[in-house]
Amino acid sequence: MSSPRQPNPTEPMQRISIIAATAILILALLFTSYGFFERKAILKYGRDAAAQIAERTALTGAAAFDAAQQLLAAMNLLVNPPVRGTTADPELVDLALRRLKSQTPHILDLAIISATGKATVWTGSGAPPSIIDRDYYSYHANNLNSTLFIGKPLLSRVKPERRFIAISKALRDEQGNLTQVLCIIMDVSLLRDYLGQRFAIPGSTQLLLDDKGEIYTRTPDFEQYVGKTILHPEQLETLSTTTPTAGFYVESALDKKERIVEFQKLTGYPLIAVGTISVKHLLAGWTQRLQVVILLWGVLSLCIILVARRALAISRKQIQQANTDGLTGIHNRRSIMRCASDMESSQQDTGLLALLMIDIDNFKRINDRFGHPTGDTVICAVAEMLRNSIRSTDIVGRYGGEEFLVLMPDISREGAQIVAEKLRLSVAAELLDPIPITISIGVAMMNRIDQSLEQTLARADSALYQAKADGRNCIRHADDSTSPTNDEQSTRTT
Ligand code: GH3
Ligand code: MG
Ligand code: MG
Repeated sequence: MSSPRQPNPTEPMQRISIIAATAILILALLFTSYGFFERKAILKYGRDAAAQIAERTALTGAAAFDAAQQLLAAMNLLVNPPVRGTTADPELVDLALRRLKSQTPHILDLAIISATGKATVWTGSGAPPSIIDRDYYSYHANNLNSTLFIGKPLLSRVKPERRFIAISKALRDEQGNLTQVLCIIMDVSLLRDYLGQRFAIPGSTQLLLDDKGEIYTRTPDFEQYVGKTILHPEQLETLSTTTPTAGFYVESALDKKERIVEFQKLTGYPLIAVGTISVKHLLAGWTQRLQVVILLWGVLSLCIILVARRALAISRKQIQQANTDGLTGIHNRRSIMRCASDMESSQQDTGLLALLMIDIDNFKRINDRFGHPTGDTVICAVAEMLRNSIRSTDIVGRYGGEEFLVLMPDISREGAQIVAEKLRLSVAAELLDPIPITISIGVAMMNRIDQSLEQTLARADSALYQAKADGRNCIRHADDSTSPTNDEQSTRTT
């Protein structure tokens, strides 16, 4: 049974599918570019914020060492009174330094050291320790032009768990010879307290390092990190006096977090301030929004797919309706003509296509005798009969009122003749007894070399006309002589 074939049915369907896919793709592109640019903007903001943290850390760190330098200057005034001809009383100096120490909780000890490395004033209890091999002295003894020394954060031997740094200053005579070394032994937690800031961005840290990457302080988790070395010291090598800042995007070797890291050299001190921001923290809100956006995209895509499916179904139905004859359910004239023209083009190479023009005989009389609704029933019955009697590759359509067109590809003239005869006999024998129904058929073979579809149709029509003229209920072939022969009469049953 052949169902109505649709002319280019995929065209509107393809259009709908393409529109839907494009809409989904455009949405995906929009959402992706929104996500991409927002992420870029957030990371840029993160770098700026990390740079600000580094800058503030550098300023505050320098202020802490400025304060230490002022203390050293005060110690200098004590041991070297500015009034000419006066010398300092060691006992008074010792007392003053002890008072200074007691007033400042972060100061562990203060010391005045002679050029030969002997502590002349020492605020610690008991005898002063041997200082000659301590770097805060030996640095100045071995470097002729040295002024300020800032030691590494070392574990205190006196107070376990506490780390100290030594800050010392060399005093020299006019010839540049070392005369004294002034020294502050300072709890390194002073730096933490100086710098300890709370940052608006969670996951941000601040550090002070020396140029080898050793950590002097870190906020937060000071105790955990002080004295350790950051494991990417090569980054610090990019810093110089001409390029005092640098920024990186790294996985921290210390806590394995991906971080934006910005460096800034301290002005006047051999230390580097660092501001870092955890990328995960920075992008936390963005990640949440991304999930919402993906969900939104999924929902919108689903809506588009549902709407497209509905539109496809409607479109399919409309095409079906547009190509189907309302009364019989077979192809209407427009559709059968399109099928014929499709076959014409696809048969160009093999050539063989038979056209059967079929007309119900004396139909007007049936209408007149039994009424129009019965006439309609007869048309439907003939259509049904034709549809059920042809091959699946053949197509039948309603060409006009009680006229039908059957297209039969890949069939010989004899084959077409046999099928036509079968159709004629079936209608005459089986349909709607006692109403006598017969059909006449005009057959034309498509000559692909020099004939068009229109010409073939005209020939089939002429053959049908001839069949009518020859008394109806018979088959005439377009290639036969126009007048009926005895042989042809034998195909007639009435
Ligand atoms: P012939 O054997 O020469 O074909 O004679 P005929 O009476 O079949 O041909 P004619 O062209 O004189 O009449 C066809 C009639 O078919 C005229 C028209 O009223 C009728 N008709 C056309 N379409 C329909 C339809 O859809 N339903 C019904 N019931 N009748 C129709
Ligand atoms: Mg008729
Ligand atoms: Mg007719």
